Amino acid sequence: MAFRWYNGTFTARKRRKSNTNQMNNILVIYTGGTIGMVNDEHSGTFVPFDFDLIVKNVPELSRLNFNLTVHSFEPIIDSSNMSPAIWVKMAQLIKDNYEDYDGFVILHGSDTMAFSASALSFMLEGLQKPVILSGSQLPIGEIRTDARENLITALEIASAKKKGRSLVQEVCIYFDSKLFRGNRSFKYNSAKFEAFRSPNYPVLVEAGVHLKYHHNAMLDNTGKEFLLHTRLDNSISILKLYPGISKQVVRAVLESDARSVILETFGSGNTTTDAWFLDMLREAIRSGKNIVDISQCKVGSVELGRYETSRYLKEMGVLSGFDMTFEAAVTKLMYLQGEFENQQEVAYWMETNIRGELTNENTGHGQSAQQVISDQSQYLA
Ligand code: ASP
Repeated sequence: MAFRWYNGTFTARKRRKSNTNQMNNILVIYTGGTIGMVNDEHSGTFVPFDFDLIVKNVPELSRLNFNLTVHSFEPIIDSSNMSPAIWVKMAQLIKDNYEDYDGFVILHGSDTMAFSASALSFMLEGLQKPVILSGSQLPIGEIRTDARENLITALEIASAKKKGRSLVQEVCIYFDSKLFRGNRSFKYNSAKFEAFRSPNYPVLVEAGVHLKYHHNAMLDNTGKEFLLHTRLDNSISILKLYPGISKQVVRAVLESDARSVILETFGSGNTTTDAWFLDMLREAIRSGKNIVDISQCKVGSVELGRYETSRYLKEMGVLSGFDMTFEAAVTKLMYLQGEFENQQEVAYWMETNIRGELTNENTGHGQSAQQVISDQSQYLA
């Protein structure tokens, strides 16, 4: 295998075994994160390093049976510095290279990986090829690193095809032997290799001795048109509730000029029923804001009207975020507000499943975890 760089892009190309056995092409987009960091002796902190380090530490890359091209972002970053502008860059890069590659692997810090995966899932509509985000909890140069397995398996899944079609046709996160739907995942642990979970949606692929694909849980976009959306409007604010929250805090958030507010509620979407609080919400809705109810619970769904403490919210027009993650809600709002000037259109789509990000039991939109798991047990039987 020969390695080379051109225009900031590094290519590892294996000679084809035969003319009939065409190898898959995978584009690796390196944005930074712990996976490629080194310990800066001077400051004693982890700082991003260039892709050479990864290649040096994973000699197995040269044994993979596909062509690998690496595009390194400039500058490479700790993902806490991620931004909508960089999401646009990533999505545009995928669109520009869509026809030339069979799959995409994005190496990314784990801190905001679930935000990026969610954002990309909305920006890349009708995707028929895998876009897999991965990274690691320990730098690739560390002896006990989780980076090697994460990288190699992410690449393997990104190149998997059957009858000419990619097995995975959506934006995912691969971490610690599991492939998750990107917009259903969140970082839940900063100390274990198992950094991500998606409790409201089943795992798409489990990596053990074999790679076990749960096909019935995955999106099938065959035949759909692939479209790129790059308009993002970040005019949102967040109101996280807690017992004892003051009028001043609630007012400050609701009176900001944001187009939408994510209300982080208790349990199945409940809030205090204090009159001053409900009045302030009503006023915000009257002024044209969308208020989206997302539960502070990580498992389960918002069910407006189940308790009296959420019935008032439903009556005044608070939107249900159903079982969406906070990360999906934030990025979906940015995407919808970029697409639609009209607040009612944003509201309608916010409650509608568009990329497998939510289960709306009322409309039957989206598969619930229970449905998929029961289908899966049939499938696995
Ligand atoms: N702070 C790092 C980042 O998100 C953590 C990681 O990569 O896991 O870039």
